[in-house]
Amino acid sequence: MASENQKKANPNIPANIVMSGIRPTGMVHLGNYFGAIRNYVKMQDDFECFFMIADLHSLTTHPDTSLLKSNVRRVLAENIACGLNPDKATFYCQSHVYETGELYLYLNMLAYKGELEKTVTFKDKARQHPENINAGLLTYPVLQTADIIMHRATHVPVGKDQEQHLEMARNFVVRFNHRYGEIFPEPHAFNYNQNLIKVPGLDGSGKMSKSENNMSTLYFADDDDTIRKKVMKAKTDSGPTEMNSTKPDYIENIFLLMKLVSAEDVIQHYESAFNNCTIRYGDMKKQLAEDMIQFVAPIRQKATDLLENDAYLLEVMGKGAQKARESAKKTMKLVREAMGLNYF
Ligand code: ADP
Repeated sequence: MASENQKKANPNIPANIVMSGIRPTGMVHLGNYFGAIRNYVKMQDDFECFFMIADLHSLTTHPDTSLLKSNVRRVLAENIACGLNPDKATFYCQSHVYETGELYLYLNMLAYKGELEKTVTFKDKARQHPENINAGLLTYPVLQTADIIMHRATHVPVGKDQEQHLEMARNFVVRFNHRYGEIFPEPHAFNYNQNLIKVPGLDGSGKMSKSENNMSTLYFADDDDTIRKKVMKAKTDSGPTEMNSTKPDYIENIFLLMKLVSAEDVIQHYESAFNNCTIRYGDMKKQLAEDMIQFVAPIRQKATDLLENDAYLLEVMGKGAQKARESAKKTMKLVREAMGLNYF
């Protein structure tokens, strides 16, 4: 039961606060864009938003920090090039909010070893890096929860790969609120299209990712020829032999990518060609590559320009840090009061 002290700290729970993060483990790709950044850009007009570069999370799998500074700048520039506006949203770097470490510690007391070990992303990463299964990796969803609830966020624009982490975040919030008083709203994964998106890799399996197979992921930093090369290498076959047949997964993936960047009549053309068995995948991939280039090129150019303006990027980071810390300080005051850790 919450004590009198804890009950007094019970505040009005905010309704519409947005928080999300992206790790600076490499270059931003189309999966990041369609799974997350596209929503950031829309949400910054409708909500109070906090967007974060998750540099601390990247340490769970990338302990070598020699490239961190340049990666953080790149992710900052690429997000702004995609339309994120640092004057509308608070755009900051995770390690600048020192309060996160404190909240993470409290939440760790509410997270159970069994549930952390069952997390799909933990199991995947442990398999990929058997030599570095560290406690930070195990408690990744706890740190993520600390980031989200630090701003008492309700909406979390993320891709489908993050669904389980959000469910865990809700569990930690429910446990915290039950034990210490209603401080935090329950955060939910958010996508304007209702269904969370997973942008598949070009090799027909898995997802596009910063840290995995480079050839199957399209990055905003890729030049036109690289985009063409990657798209043309995507797995296909000799085409359907029966009218209106079901698409194999790797073909479904190519259609899915086309739906993200191509015009409606182009998509319809290839849908019909597939259904009446006249489709030529070589032509389809050429079209897809050109449409991808149309989409990527202006964003790539803007990011390149921004990366040349270091003073601007530092200014964005500094302002973001200040705003994020103000919000964090308010939340931690409530947390310490609720937990009875306010001795003075
Ligand atoms: P990555 O897996 O490339 O390292 P992050 O873990 O930094 O990406 O995730 C940043 C955001 O991008 C998250 O909201 C995540 O859900 C989203 N995301 C990453 N990859 C994809 C993908 N292939 N499809 C959809 N969303 C994705």
